[in-house]
Amino acid sequence: MLQTLDKEARLTEEAHRLYGLLKSVSKEKGAKWTYEDCLAAAPYTLAINQFKKEQNAVVLAHSYTTPDLVYGVADYRGDSYELALKARETTADIIIFAGVWFMAETAKILNPTKKVLIPAGRAGCTLADAMSGTEMKKLRDQYPGIPALCYINSLAEVKAQCDSCVTSGNVFDIAQKIPGNELIFVPDLLMAKNLEAELQRRGTPKKIISAGGTCCVHDKYRPADVQKLRADYPEIQIIAHPECPIEVCRLCDYVGSTKGMQAYVAKSRATCFGMLTEFGLVNRLEAEYPDKKFIWPFGVCSYMKRNTLVNTLEALIDPQPEQVVEVEPAWAAAAKKSIDKMFELAQ
Ligand code: SF4
Repeated sequence: MLQTLDKEARLTEEAHRLYGLLKSVSKEKGAKWTYEDCLAAAPYTLAINQFKKEQNAVVLAHSYTTPDLVYGVADYRGDSYELALKARETTADIIIFAGVWFMAETAKILNPTKKVLIPAGRAGCTLADAMSGTEMKKLRDQYPGIPALCYINSLAEVKAQCDSCVTSGNVFDIAQKIPGNELIFVPDLLMAKNLEAELQRRGTPKKIISAGGTCCVHDKYRPADVQKLRADYPEIQIIAHPECPIEVCRLCDYVGSTKGMQAYVAKSRATCFGMLTEFGLVNRLEAEYPDKKFIWPFGVCSYMKRNTLVNTLEALIDPQPEQVVEVEPAWAAAAKKSIDKMFELAQ
């Protein structure tokens, strides 16, 4: 009886903790997180946090995963760059990477002696999956001597064949540092256009040779979405990710990485923001800036949302083979060189 009471008290305490963090956060259909939602999540967050301690595990959660993961169990939350740094430096025995496959693969490349688990299994990404190692090799053979950068949203076999990796937060600065007036950039065709335009604007133009695909979330925004936001909310500041089409980015007040967008909101005196990006980032901003208003037209990454509290707990207790991250040894060392080069150039 006493044990039952104690369990109930711990669940109630945990639900209050979660509700305190999530009460200003929207769900997809517009309603906010409720105390009942938090009470339903509490048994899982308690169990995951307990298993983490027992197994010396750390949870890294990308900002696009769901708020119960991001605020309930993550030790670190952030974008690809921030999480890659955390993965590299952690001393934990197990890294649980709530994100998509290429991110967990990057963590394993950077810290190969750790056990890396991804709750969502082989969750893809339309960018990373748009280019294979064979295609990358063909491109390099086609343009011998031209330096190549790859977006971090790429497979290890692509990273391994590039001079440096980049993220959306450092792509412009790193590209500017690369000598020559031609540059290969893969696998984001839309970011390639934004990169070419930004280098032109900075007075260091380069011809960008690109191949690959697009992000299935950010490629959907159109100039009409920006115009509608401005018409509906005259005071709005509109911010977008550089994975969006250039004709959209040109109409926005700020274009930058997930971390850059957070910093922009933090320092802006505006109170209303139009968010042309994935819903998870909107949720983070709602949680962290409850006095500001965030208008989000649409945009959900179904791959990121495959990470749940349930499969995170399962990965900790008894990981399935598809949740255990291994990297093809033939690519790991060269891919690491490309990621390390990014850390060096990003200084
Ligand atoms: S939001 Fe786009 S780029 Fe990010 S993981 Fe999903 S598909 Fe890939």
